Amino acid sequence: MRRRNLLKGLSVLPVAGAALGRVFAAETVVSPPKRDLFKELGLRTFINAAGNYTTMTASLMPQEVLDAINSGAGEYVMLDEVQDKVGEKIAAICHSEAAIVTAGCWSALVLGMAGVLTGLDNKRVAQLPFLEGTGMKSEVIVQKAHANGYHLALKNAGVSIVVVETREEVEKAINEKTALLWFLNREAPEGKIQHQEWLDIAKKHKLPTMIDIAADVPPVENLWKYNDMGFDLVCISGGKAMRGPQSAGILMGKKDLIAAARLSAPPRSGIGRGQKVNKEEILGMYVALEKYVQQDHAKEWKIWEQKIALIDNAVKNFDGVKTEMVLPPIANHTPSLRISWDEKKVRLTGETLGDKLRKGSPSIEIIGWEAKNNIRLTVFMLKPGQEKIVAQRIKEELSQASV
Ligand SMILES: *Cc1c(COP(=O)(O)O)cnc(C)c1O
Repeated sequence: MRRRNLLKGLSVLPVAGAALGRVFAAETVVSPPKRDLFKELGLRTFINAAGNYTTMTASLMPQEVLDAINSGAGEYVMLDEVQDKVGEKIAAICHSEAAIVTAGCWSALVLGMAGVLTGLDNKRVAQLPFLEGTGMKSEVIVQKAHANGYHLALKNAGVSIVVVETREEVEKAINEKTALLWFLNREAPEGKIQHQEWLDIAKKHKLPTMIDIAADVPPVENLWKYNDMGFDLVCISGGKAMRGPQSAGILMGKKDLIAAARLSAPPRSGIGRGQKVNKEEILGMYVALEKYVQQDHAKEWKIWEQKIALIDNAVKNFDGVKTEMVLPPIANHTPSLRISWDEKKVRLTGETLGDKLRKGSPSIEIIGWEAKNNIRLTVFMLKPGQEKIVAQRIKEELSQASV
């Protein structure tokens, strides 16, 4: 059959067209029927009133990001050139000298660490993560309060972590093997040394610094704040509040260090080769960042507060129930609602309420594991209107469990 006839046939035979439509996708107007893969695979989808959790697939990408991914999929380009061009744009937005899109914030930590160790020496790149006898430095200094799990990313490059608490301990720990002073923004209030002092110590000893700000927008200013402060490397997640691809993140900072980090990343074969970001994700990350920066943040904040108020109003009048607006100071810094109750008046635990909401229809995820007699929920990942469903479902459950 000639193509012309085939296409003609497709227009009257939509079922056959579904299979063939993909083959001639660029030429035909036959659009394949929408597949509901969640239904087909029996996957539970849910209303996300919990927040940006990796286990819950983080955030939903806006249409502009999906468009960037889709349009990016239609052509070949050189992977390095996409990173170059997008990196320049990201660097300009975030006030850094250079930037690359990484496979999440974790990968930014790994690649940044690799760059610090190897510099532009390809022999060293091939030696990672085995540092002994190579002449490379091998220790990273981290405050005790900051050593909460994410610092382990750095160990992928072969370094060991030296934990300190006071300035005196940092000064004592610094030696010829010290490669980096690492900072976890989220835990800053828990640590004894704050940003500027950390930078001052590093400067005094001519050591590079890296900061993890993975979940720390909003506020949007954090995208450039730490570059402006003088951190040599800044690492952030792309798929949290910025709503880029979940698999993307950004490593930004000093030009020489970003160039060095890239030696360990695809398309080259270093320790980061398995942390590939494809061109679609790189483009999607760029558009997500751009959109996030341009957004009306004050307006968005108001909408969040209105959603919180709506849920609050629906549940606060139950006997024994108390509500409270909770604003995490850093990391996922968006208004959340804590609903707590007197266990003698409401026969529920946070976990059982979480379970009932999860098993209900539609399924809802909240933070139900923090304490026995309360739950917490966020609204920044809700789709428009879902706050009403969340309010209604919690009201129903509280009503049923009220004594
Ligand atoms: C989420 C998170 C990471 C990991 O980020 P990914 O983008 O999931 O790789 C690292 N550090 C902190 C503090 C985080 O919250």
